[in-house]
Amino acid sequence: MSADIHTIAVHEAGHAVMRWIRRLPITAVWADEEDGLCEGCGKPIDAETNLLLTLAGFATEADYMLLPERVNLAESDGDDFDSAWRILHHSPHLRNEGESTEGALMRWMILAGHTLYPYRELVERLGFALAQRRHLSARSVSAIIREWCKRNEPDPTDPVEEGENLRALNVALVKREEAA
Ligand SMILES: [Zn+2]
Repeated sequence: MSADIHTIAVHEAGHAVMRWIRRLPITAVWADEEDGLCEGCGKPIDAETNLLLTLAGFATEADYMLLPERVNLAESDGDDFDSAWRILHHSPHLRNEGESTEGALMRWMILAGHTLYPYRELVERLGFALAQRRHLSARSVSAIIREWCKRNEPDPTDPVEEGENLRALNVALVKREEAA
C-alpha cells in the first residue's frame, strides 16, 4: 500500500482517538513516511475494544466506512488486518451466528468507522499535528484532545453513551444483514 506521512499520521490518530473514545489511557504516537505507531498501554483490553482499536486506523483511510461497499477487504492487508483477524478468530462472541470471519470483519470495520466519524475533525487535527512533529507524547495527545473538547461538541454521539450507540448500531446492522 502506498502511503504518505499525512495518511499514516491520520491512521495513527484514528487509533489514538479510538483509545480516548473507549476510555483507555492516552498513549504516545509516531509517524514517518514509512510507518507509524500508536503505543499500547500494556494493560489487558477486552476483545471488543481491542478490535475497534485495531480497525480504527484503517477506518480513517476508508472514509470512516460511510461507503462500505467500496471497500475491498480482500485487497486490504497489513498488521492491523492480521490482528483483527486473530481477535475475531479467538473471540467467537464477536461473530454473529453463521457469520463468516470476513463478514464479521466488515461489520466491525463499519462499527469502528461510524464510532470515529463524529470525531473526524479531531482525528484530522491530531493527524496534522503528528505529520508535522512526527511524534506526540501521551501528554501532547491529551492536550490536543482537551483543546478540541473545549471548542467542539462531540457530534452526534457522546463517548459516555458510545457503548449504547454501538449496541444499537450493531443490532441495526444485524437486521440489515438478515433482511438482505
Ligand atoms: Zn494501524
